[in-house]
Amino acid sequence: MRMSETFDFDLFVIGGGSGGVRCARIAASYGARVAIAEKKRWGGTCVNVGCVPKKLMTYAAAYNAAFDDAAGYGWQIGPRRHDWAAFIGAMHKDIERLNGIYSDMLKKSGARVMSGHATITGPHSVEMDDVTYSAQHIVIATGAMPSVPDTMPGAREYGLVSDDVFFLKDRPQRVMIVGAGYIGVEFAGIFAGLGSDVTLVHRGGLILNPGFDEEVRHFLQEEMTKQGIAFSFDCQVERVEKTAQGVRICRTNCDPIDMDAIIFATGRRPNIEGLGLEQVGVALGRGGLVVVNEEDQTNIPSIYALGDVTNRVELTPVALGEGHALADRLFGNKPRHIVYENIPTAVFSQPPVAMVGLTQQQAEQKFLGDIDVYKTTFKAMRHTLSGRDEKTFMKLVVCCSSDKVVGLHMGGQDAPEIVQGFTAAIKAGATKADFDGTIGIHPTAAEEFVTLRTKALK
Ligand code: FAD
Repeated sequence: MRMSETFDFDLFVIGGGSGGVRCARIAASYGARVAIAEKKRWGGTCVNVGCVPKKLMTYAAAYNAAFDDAAGYGWQIGPRRHDWAAFIGAMHKDIERLNGIYSDMLKKSGARVMSGHATITGPHSVEMDDVTYSAQHIVIATGAMPSVPDTMPGAREYGLVSDDVFFLKDRPQRVMIVGAGYIGVEFAGIFAGLGSDVTLVHRGGLILNPGFDEEVRHFLQEEMTKQGIAFSFDCQVERVEKTAQGVRICRTNCDPIDMDAIIFATGRRPNIEGLGLEQVGVALGRGGLVVVNEEDQTNIPSIYALGDVTNRVELTPVALGEGHALADRLFGNKPRHIVYENIPTAVFSQPPVAMVGLTQQQAEQKFLGDIDVYKTTFKAMRHTLSGRDEKTFMKLVVCCSSDKVVGLHMGGQDAPEIVQGFTAAIKAGATKADFDGTIGIHPTAAEEFVTLRTKALK
């Protein structure tokens, strides 16, 4: 532990989200004198306007399909109606509970918990409410915020972003979502599941980004089409106007269209406004990301950054891992770094998709074509009676010379839960022979991963 009485604090963390809270809490557990500042709500994006409310909305939407499917199993379900206001109210009550847990956890850790906007004023100083505090180390964990196309007339004034969706008073019946990254795709599934008419606008011809396997992207696009989600790849949004009911969206190559809401899921930008980084001379990269080295250190050695503000891998467990490892290094005498390889990821679409390791395309490049692919598409057992026309897709990518499974992909019910389990095997370097020698749990969809025997044509 390196601590100094010269400063008010050993560590000042700016941002009470996933990464900041974890870093502050672990540092305090080592006996460091820690302060943490949050300007909005404890828990940050994940708890308030990200993973948690999004996942609750996904559950809400999935009930609709489950009621339909139940009929095939003999259930008679009467008329149903979703009460959006009741659901949103219950959701926010649970978020408040989590806010409390986060701030209590911090207080119990011994960290000084401060509410308000923090600004860095020097390599060792932070200002809050006109008071300047000194700290040996400063951590920027301020996350990111939704970004809307700057030059599109009406987009900012009349468009919504992901943060707004969680506070809507009513569910829009006709909704256009711009952007088919994972956030756009997830919202499309949520609104369609709840009964809205959804159009997803995207510049490329295929949803999701190339970080996801191409076949999985095709698979999901097909499944979403079956659910009635409309895709618009050729008409780009040019302008948004206000109407009495909602918005009129003027588009290139297409007629204007009226909607109740338009949601921009067009990327996120680092949260650096009013942080004082330019004044202090912290180096910034593309779009304002805070540039750090492998130690999470900026060009100013006493100032660190982690989580979404560094725009490396924008996921909660990564921000948590970075925050924990930094506290371990600074105060726990544990020279530990997180490993960015084999980070599993999921899209909580309907059905969900999940992956770990390399896509087929990445593996082909990395191993110069020395790969085998094993895959299957099938109707899951639950849909034999439900009658739902939904498929499950699974794929293993194997490096031929080492026999290691280098990529595992799935689209279908429970994909995120299943892929999380297999991640430990992939991380441990499991080979295809290890998969083949594993006994399955029957009857499950997951057992298919250990019974895939036929090489697919590449
Ligand atoms: P944040 O959690 O954003 O925390 C930053 C905090 O800093 C904020 O609370 C902010 O108010 C505060 N702050 C900013 N500036 C200041 C200042 N000057 N002074 C004081 N406080 C300040 N990830 C997943 O792993 N799984 C998912 O399913 C998932 N779903 C998502 C869905 C949506 C809609 C969104 C938007 C994100 C989702 N993410 C998901 C991403 C995940 O939420 C982020 O990667 C994660 O929250 C990043 O944590 P962080 O600590 O870097 O920043």
